[in-house]
Amino acid sequence: MAIDELPPLREVIAAHGLSARKALGQNFLLDLNLTAKIARNAGDLSGFDVLEVGPGPGGLTRGLLAEGARRVLAIEKDPRCLPALEEIAEHYPGRLRVIEGDALDIDPLEHLTPPIAIAANLPYNVGTELLVRWLTPETWPPFWTSLTLMFQREVAERIVAEPGSKAYGRLAVLAQWRTDARIVMSLPPGAFTPPPKVSSAVVRLTALPEPKFPANPKVLERVVAMAFNQRRKMLRSALKGLHPDVEDLLKSAGISPTDRAEQVALEQFCALARAVEAES
Ligand code: SAM
Repeated sequence: MAIDELPPLREVIAAHGLSARKALGQNFLLDLNLTAKIARNAGDLSGFDVLEVGPGPGGLTRGLLAEGARRVLAIEKDPRCLPALEEIAEHYPGRLRVIEGDALDIDPLEHLTPPIAIAANLPYNVGTELLVRWLTPETWPPFWTSLTLMFQREVAERIVAEPGSKAYGRLAVLAQWRTDARIVMSLPPGAFTPPPKVSSAVVRLTALPEPKFPANPKVLERVVAMAFNQRRKMLRSALKGLHPDVEDLLKSAGISPTDRAEQVALEQFCALARAVEAES
């Protein structure tokens, strides 16, 4: 069943000459039932303004609007996509605003009214950078309620990774400290046009009202970055630059100085950040 009365995406792409460009991370989703399913994974959007980064020809945009988003703000770097997006805006009067530009340079808050959800099939080259920005605002809770994001499977696994696994690192700690993060969909390369080399997955991150354990965000970020920068080293060496008595600090946080970063649970990293802050 069609999700709207607009033309199929293959026709849209042909009509506007939207051949995919690798440099812009363009792997399009053309199955509107799939984009509607991704939109449903973002939850009930009826009262929400939704920020979408990289709408491309608008498959996910149409899914978000058909699933009832109050308004969508779509930021797209490729000007070739704008006429196709304009047709969607006309079909949903007053509900879609498109801004041409780089999502890294635009402050979405100037254009959105809370509550706000973010949903996107992110361009691979800026996906992690945007996620880290959204996870590390100056104040918490953040401006968004949830993030529903498509990543390469390997990145999605790093976000939800448990201690003791190879995928566990800075992204897992930052994401799991202040959000509930889970993989909600898996997609094979063939779901995209053109197909990428690797599989993809949708991660849904829901902002928690309070972080799971107390810690100063700046100190925690510093500790985690240092610990995982040299993830093969024992923490007493990886964190040597942190404090002259780093072994004592590690012990006070319940961490063995001979452990490696990937063995340390989120709660212990937070305890270490508190110990470091108390000493500084
Ligand atoms: N949402 C569409 C879909 O699912 O079919 C397209 C997804 S495609 C993976 C990524 C999109 O992000 C492309 O349309 C690309 O032009 C756009 N893009 C790439 N870098 C961007 C940036 N820095 N800011 C905004 N959009 C960007």
